Amino acid sequence: MAVTAVREVSVFGDGIAYFNEAAALLELDPGMRAILTHPSRQIIFSIPFQRDSGEFEVFTGYRVQYNFARGPAKGGIRFHPGVTLDEVTALAFWMTWKCAVVDLPFGGGKGGVTCDPTTLSMNELERITRRYAAELVEVVGPDKDVPAPDVGTTPQTMAWFMDTYSMHIRQNVAGVVTGKPLEIGGSRGRVEATGRGVTICAMDQMSHLGIDPKGARVVIQGFGNVGMYAAKLFEERGCNVVGISDVTGAYYNGAGINVNGAEEYAKKNHNLGGFTGGDRITNAELLETDCDVLVPAALEKQLTTENARRVRAKLLVEGANGPTTPEADRIFQEMGVCVIPDIMANAGGVTVSYFEWVQDRAGYFWKEAEVNARLEENLLENFAEIRRIAQLHNVAFRTAAYMIAIERVVTSLKLRGVYA
Ligand code: GLU
Repeated sequence: MAVTAVREVSVFGDGIAYFNEAAALLELDPGMRAILTHPSRQIIFSIPFQRDSGEFEVFTGYRVQYNFARGPAKGGIRFHPGVTLDEVTALAFWMTWKCAVVDLPFGGGKGGVTCDPTTLSMNELERITRRYAAELVEVVGPDKDVPAPDVGTTPQTMAWFMDTYSMHIRQNVAGVVTGKPLEIGGSRGRVEATGRGVTICAMDQMSHLGIDPKGARVVIQGFGNVGMYAAKLFEERGCNVVGISDVTGAYYNGAGINVNGAEEYAKKNHNLGGFTGGDRITNAELLETDCDVLVPAALEKQLTTENARRVRAKLLVEGANGPTTPEADRIFQEMGVCVIPDIMANAGGVTVSYFEWVQDRAGYFWKEAEVNARLEENLLENFAEIRRIAQLHNVAFRTAAYMIAIERVVTSLKLRGVYA
């Protein structure tokens, strides 16, 4: 894969652009740069699958293990029609820096299946998941590569994955995946963890910017596992969630959306279509809403040269991976919009995944309060380090986060030595 791919098209290209900026400031030598801009392993395979009607189809599955310098690969599995090798590679690349920036003993990985889970029955999803897991039996495991949920996958998907792996190797291995249901080795607090991390980072930065959380206007794009829990926690902390959205469209209410009402509605109807707790607006209008905090919590490339100049938020908190293109990011710097980058802002999920992996290994499970306290402590400590490095070098948080992450990965790599 060409690492110089056209940026407006390639998601991995976006990642590489961010990496290059930090690598230049660190004066990283060309050899290290070459190693870190190439994925360790990319696996592509066919998933023959039988519809409930009896017909056969073939989907494409991917797993990219980007880097192992700091530990086993770690990262979710995405089921979405837009999944490509480029996207999965970019997501695995970002997991590498995300795990390093919050100091977890993991490398980076990501997987996916190009399919539309909203059109598949539970039985069909189970068959796809089991075949996907079976294809990866040799290369995943608690000390090799540990998948988790991502867009389009759930704790149930992880349960099927864990069961398939355990059946193949003929022993129970809870720690092969994280994000499992509680009853089979999941961690308390994991489901909400990414949204919780988003709000922890946002609150911390709001206090630095002098934005009073009470009544602060928050707009959230995406009402999935990240956006929905973030919305609930923002509301709990006194913020005014004025805009939300999902695949069916966007909804605005200046007096504040009733988030619990929206959650109930979405659970009952499978999405927000027809929700009357706010005025229907377009996705473009949502992102350009006058607000204090904007949280893109959907997919990549939502904030681009097309719309960046019209963004009116003071603080952008990246709940999604890669929502801002490097070009848009430069515009935000010019405009003075403060950006908490994805690799910090959404690291709460993988942090509690790490706690789950630790609990599975020990066979001893923590109380929810302990999980949440440790999560908050870890995120705030590493966010403070980003703030320190950003001030020291007079760079944006994103560049500082990459500098810290690259330095941590390079240190591990040099200690281990390059087996060349
Ligand atoms: N899919 C999530 C992410 O992008 C979580 C990954 C994990 O827990 O391993 O960070």
